[in-house]
Formats: sequence, structure tokens, C-alpha cells
Amino acid sequence: MSLNNMVQCSRGHQHYGKNGAAGIILYRYRDDGQVEMLLSQRSANVDHPNTWCTIGGLVNDGEQTFQAAIREMQEETGYLIRQSNIALTGAAQDNHGGWTYTTYFATPNHNVKIPDAFKLQTSEITQVRWITRKELGHYPLHPSFLDHTVRLMNTMLQRDYDPATGAFCPTVNFTSILPKRWTQE
Ligand SMILES: [Zn+2]
Repeated sequence: MSLNNMVQCSRGHQHYGKNGAAGIILYRYRDDGQVEMLLSQRSANVDHPNTWCTIGGLVNDGEQTFQAAIREMQEETGYLIRQSNIALTGAAQDNHGGWTYTTYFATPNHNVKIPDAFKLQTSEITQVRWITRKELGHYPLHPSFLDHTVRLMNTMLQRDYDPATGAFCPTVNFTSILPKRWTQE
């Protein structure tokens, strides 16, 4: 990553990638009715080392954000997303003013097994794991992921359900892991 590919957003952060960044969150139901999402742990060599976040990366020149998200998934995990193996269910933009992270949400239509389905690029991520909403608070999360993406989890992912009754569960309360300024709003 070269320094001339850095931008300062209107919030005053320094970001890599003048075209912004994009990633994709694959999610699915577990047998217990909870939705789990595929997240990655960043390597020790990158910024915010060892934190967990969306699998994604920089948008290249001339590239659409969804193309970038698919390419990054393949480069970092070896998992190739095709139109035939996922259903794209939503997208959300974290717009900092001058720099944007676009997150896509998709559900695979086949069983994605760890580790069989993945060949990790360990210079960038050290592991991937299926994590439920309730488990998010047990992981050190990347600040931007925590700041923006976590609060979308109740609306962008399907609700958990009780397999005994089929009834949807109450939405997950993220108050304890969200930054203070939200809980005060
Ligand atoms: Zn920013």
C-alpha cells in the first residue's frame, strides 16, 4: 500500500484507498435457530491488528464495489462467490465523506465448511469463523466495524428463531458492545 493512495475523510481519519473499500458478510442459520456470520481476524501486520471484522478490502480503479468485495473474498480466503452459490440480500454504506466502506450481505445456498472451503492469505487475515450476533461481544472488533456494521445486524440479517416453536426471537441488544455515544442517544 503506497502513501499516495491515502485519503483523509471528513471525519479526520486517514484511510487507505482513494476509491474506498468494500466487503461481504456471508450469513446463515445454525441448527439452533441463531444466525451466524462469517468474519475474519486481521493479521498482526495490518492496522488494527488481531481485530475481527468484515472480509473485504480496497476498491481498485475502475472497479465496482461489489466486484471488489467478491475479489477480496477470493484473494483473502480462497472462497469464490458466484451468482449461483449465494443470494445477495442487502447492502449498506458507511460514508465518512470522501471515503466509503460498502458492506454487502449475502447468504450461501450450500454448506460452506471451515476449513475446507478456505485457503487463507495469512499476511492479511489469520482466521475466519462463523460468529452469531450474541457472540460478537466476545471478540475484539475493528473500530469501524463496531462503529457502523454491528448496529446493522438486527436489520440486515434475518432474525434468530426458536427451533422448538419456529417463533422469531427478540432482536439482540448490542448496548454493551456499542460505543458509548450510541447508547446515550
Ligand atoms: Zn473516516
